[in-house]
Amino acid sequence: MGTFVFVTDLHGSRWKYERTLALAKERGASLVINGGDMLPHGRLHEEQARFIREFLDEHFAGYQASGIRHLGLTANDDLRVHDPLFEAACAKYPLVENIAKRRVEIGPHDYIGMNLVTDFPFRLKDRARMDVRDFTFPPQFGDGILSLPGGWEEIPDWPAYARALPTIEEELFSLPAPRDPGRAVYVIHGPPARLGLDVCRGGMEVGSFSTFRFIESLQPLLTLHGHIHESPDESGVWLAKVGRTVCIQPGQSSSGLTVVVGDLESMRFEQMVIAAD
Ligand SMILES: [Zn+2]
Repeated sequence: MGTFVFVTDLHGSRWKYERTLALAKERGASLVINGGDMLPHGRLHEEQARFIREFLDEHFAGYQASGIRHLGLTANDDLRVHDPLFEAACAKYPLVENIAKRRVEIGPHDYIGMNLVTDFPFRLKDRARMDVRDFTFPPQFGDGILSLPGGWEEIPDWPAYARALPTIEEELFSLPAPRDPGRAVYVIHGPPARLGLDVCRGGMEVGSFSTFRFIESLQPLLTLHGHIHESPDESGVWLAKVGRTVCIQPGQSSSGLTVVVGDLESMRFEQMVIAAD
């Protein structure tokens, strides 16, 4: 009892989803947490919608049938336009929940999700925000775009558009408050800065300073992150501490399945990469 499995950035890999559920059963886990970027990679309207309808829905039924809870959220690579479809797939199963900007109580622990990320060079801005009010935008690969049904809205002046949106800092502090921060688990797709959990290929560190400060001031029990798949390979770090808080960003292997198996009572965590069958 109390064992959970954390995975993130599965990007529509069916075998990784299936292996995660199998691992949860093998380990007797009562909970699987998915940290976002759940759908096939790339700005693929129809493919992402089809993945939810034809794969995730039935996959979630497997969690329901196994009596294992599933908490997930869509993130920066998952088109916002499909959020209602994702929400509907989750809503069909009492054990499956979309935790984006929500709090879910399981026993003494509150799980709170955050799917917005600090702005990056990539054009898709559905979930992108300035980190703080005096944010310096990174170089951009082109004009910003937002997903619309079947297409895109072009954002020629992305910085001006972003300045009118709440920052990551403001979004974090407007999340539902936990009953007891010391027992709260935050699932925040983007990693915090300063811990080695945010290191891109080549060494650039792109983590969120406001997320670091949020963790430092609130001191939750545990924070779970993803977003920078290669970070643990680059920095050698997948777990770090900020005061009493344990912060985990396991990354995601391009060939195998990267997972963390953890337990909130013992606060023991194990990261592993499982080879493809
Ligand atoms: Zn990703």
